[in-house]
Amino acid sequence: MSTYRGRFAPSPTGPLHDGSLVAALASWLDARAHGGQWLVRIEDVDGPRCPPGTAEIILGQLSALGLHADEAPVWQSRRGDRYQAALDRLIAPGHAYGCACTRAEIAAAAGPRAKHGELVYPGTCRHGTQGRPVRAWRFRVDGRVDWHDRRLGAQTQDLETEVGDFVLKRADGLWAYQLAVVVDDAEQGITDVVRGEDLADNTPRQIALQRALHLPTPRYLHTPLVLAADGHKLSKQNGAAAIDVGDPPARLREASVALGLVPPSGSAGDVLAAAIAQWRSARP
Ligand code: GLU
Repeated sequence: MSTYRGRFAPSPTGPLHDGSLVAALASWLDARAHGGQWLVRIEDVDGPRCPPGTAEIILGQLSALGLHADEAPVWQSRRGDRYQAALDRLIAPGHAYGCACTRAEIAAAAGPRAKHGELVYPGTCRHGTQGRPVRAWRFRVDGRVDWHDRRLGAQTQDLETEVGDFVLKRADGLWAYQLAVVVDDAEQGITDVVRGEDLADNTPRQIALQRALHLPTPRYLHTPLVLAADGHKLSKQNGAAAIDVGDPPARLREASVALGLVPPSGSAGDVLAAAIAQWRSARP
């Protein structure tokens, strides 16, 4: 029996759009092609950015398209105690430390922005806050992470120079995506992460956290992004429209084409069955 367990982990900041449907379909196809299980996790840690009811809309869109999960969805907003326990496990051996810096202080002391757009934390509080109250908690990075992506091949990132000590718990008390995703992937027994390529440069941070927490590292596959007409990533932030699930076969065909598949005409079931077979030979 396959031990494959995959997941789709949307942040419910808006309904599914063409880009997030591609990520959902890719993770579903990879799970089905491997005879595995597919889970849905609602990544609503950043509550203020998640309008009420949006997660339910996403779950409805997935089920209208025939993408059914094998277990009930997990909601990150209900799992703060697990993230706190992981943070405590990181603090004790010194992998995490309290940081007293304000945004303005970091901006004044930091060098140029990292590739992923955030400031590289200058390490001010690495050796203590000098009596200032702790605002956020950070992970102490240590060197380079080499990793493998099933599509992109060998990857490497120097966490110290390219990312810096990153936030695990924010000054406003919210949990950071990096910590929540690592805790949940491990607790849900996820063996394979399939998601959009925009998240590839987060992966070394997640692998560093897995190692510090003595958790297994899943296999990773980052899928090509669907670009808007202006060449930018299609996202809720740049106004990508919610998909219309009134015509499931059409939506599934479009998403399949974005993944390089050649979908047949016919019902949603026909499109999905053909896509599983094609995916199996393209991404064994
Ligand atoms: N919640 C993240 C997003 O919607 C995806 C996280 C993941 O797949 O690891 O961008």
